Amino acid sequence: MSILITGAQLPDGTSTDLFIDNGVFTTPGTADRTIDAAGLIALPGLVDLHTHLREPGFEQSETVLTGSRAAAIGGFTAVFAMANTMPVQDTAGVVEQVHSLGQRHGYVTVQPIGAVTAGLAGQQLSEIGAMAQSRARVRVFSDDGHCVSDALLMRRALEYVKTFGGVVAQHAQEPRLTVGAQMNEGALSSELGLTGWPAVAEESIIARDVLLAQHVGARLHICHVSTAGSVEVIRWAKARGVDVTAEVTPHHLLLTEQLAAGYDSRFKVNPPLRRDEDVLALRAALADRTIDIVATDHAPHPPEAKECAWDEAANGMVGLESALSVVHAAVVESGQLDWGDIARVLSRKPADIGQLAGYDAAFALGSPAHLTLYDPAVTRTFATTDLRGKGLNSPYLGYKLPGRVLATIHHGYPTVLDGELVDAHEVAAQAVAREASQK
Ligand SMILES: [Zn+2]
Repeated sequence: MSILITGAQLPDGTSTDLFIDNGVFTTPGTADRTIDAAGLIALPGLVDLHTHLREPGFEQSETVLTGSRAAAIGGFTAVFAMANTMPVQDTAGVVEQVHSLGQRHGYVTVQPIGAVTAGLAGQQLSEIGAMAQSRARVRVFSDDGHCVSDALLMRRALEYVKTFGGVVAQHAQEPRLTVGAQMNEGALSSELGLTGWPAVAEESIIARDVLLAQHVGARLHICHVSTAGSVEVIRWAKARGVDVTAEVTPHHLLLTEQLAAGYDSRFKVNPPLRRDEDVLALRAALADRTIDIVATDHAPHPPEAKECAWDEAANGMVGLESALSVVHAAVVESGQLDWGDIARVLSRKPADIGQLAGYDAAFALGSPAHLTLYDPAVTRTFATTDLRGKGLNSPYLGYKLPGRVLATIHHGYPTVLDGELVDAHEVAAQAVAREASQK
């Protein structure tokens, strides 16, 4: 299929026509389809380094297909799928299964993340080498949901991934300091009578792990940084030359612990929402590149896991469908980031950290055509009708959010057009045709 996109504004502010044929950006020719992109921003296809797709094992929460559709409607063309499935993504067989499900559905590239420890149990290393050498070519390893709290295991994992240039993505949460934690620890948690999750539980693990990464000479990535103190530790480590990268979620850039006061479990998440000053520090750190990327931590749950008392509710929020609008609201409207920065923190850099090819030269002739067309001028009241995954546990329902994704193109083929998903059979058929042509 060939597509002509006219009048799109690139992230650098210039206006241009884009022509896509046979999956890549190329010089203009005859188009099967023309998209008028006047007034729209063309961003490189978004890449999420931190998604929970729940399949295999928790298909009542999400599947690779439904999560892929949520990603596409949010402007994503690739997601990294966290390992806390059942069975856990800790063997070559499971990561290959998840990878090929993504290929078959075709909405986005699904790149599995491998577990650091077998069964996420924190006792012994998983089959890291077998996953790295599998067809899924795993490069990111994480026990996310759990912290690799054993310092020796963390050291061994860093040593192992270093041999093939992989990265360990740490969920930084000292478990002993967070037993039974329900929200950010502070004056508000005391007032509400909820067990606190202290900032130091995150910061102490980050401090230990940047030192371990430096000692080993390996790459470390920090998941969902949530506190001002964590930003200070990462800034210190980068200044020392530690090979560390970090992510912040859209919700930690916009929402604060005050939302816990209503006991609405849609706002219950791990790490918890923090104070105003943490949110401001996270925004500044994203702007000055102490924090490298935004990642969603999309965490769908069925209604029964969320529609219960705060202390019984599951942690997590869906985030793929709203991510770009929330980041727009949090750091673009404030002038801290421009669209070029957004292209970096939501596409080029996450692809670089995860070693996903095809995202280093957005829009360049001959490079894979992954892009999203975004209308920054509209405002919408976010609603369940904006969600496309199985999870309805969005914290933004009823919020006025800026912007809307109008088209997403993955490998040169539309997955979203006119703000709506392209039919699943059509997307899958295109993916099959692409696979066949590459063989
Ligand atoms: Zn996590």
